[in-house]
Amino acid sequence: MEDIGCIILNGVSVWDTRRTLDEKAFGKTDRVKIGEALSSGRIIRLGGPQNFHVYLGVNEDYIMIPRTYCSCRGFYMNTLIEGTKTHCSHLAALEVAGDRIIDLSEVLDPTLLVDIILEVINYGRSRMLRRLIYK
Ligand SMILES: [Zn+2]
Repeated sequence: MEDIGCIILNGVSVWDTRRTLDEKAFGKTDRVKIGEALSSGRIIRLGGPQNFHVYLGVNEDYIMIPRTYCSCRGFYMNTLIEGTKTHCSHLAALEVAGDRIIDLSEVLDPTLLVDIILEVINYGRSRMLRRLIYK
């Protein structure tokens, strides 16, 4: 068989992620991060076809798809690569956030949504999003 450079991952499935989020089986680190996120308005809903959210970190921002994906290093390493955790604390915070998020989904132009996501992916954080929120 031709070698196509396939990477074999040991990560957990998205169903495991959703099950532990449903169970709210959150450890101490999760609970501390959840408290921080919800008290300081760090979760922003962008909307769009995947219901994108952003976690505004102190140094970096992360793109989140609820119950599915977070762009942080912890989710990448622990969930997707090593399979040692089913979720990161950002997804846990989003799971319990309810209406304690800043929702821009009704006012955000689709082009701006893409620009914000690309800015987070390319530069680690979004100045455009901060300007929108803190203006
Ligand atoms: Zn995360």
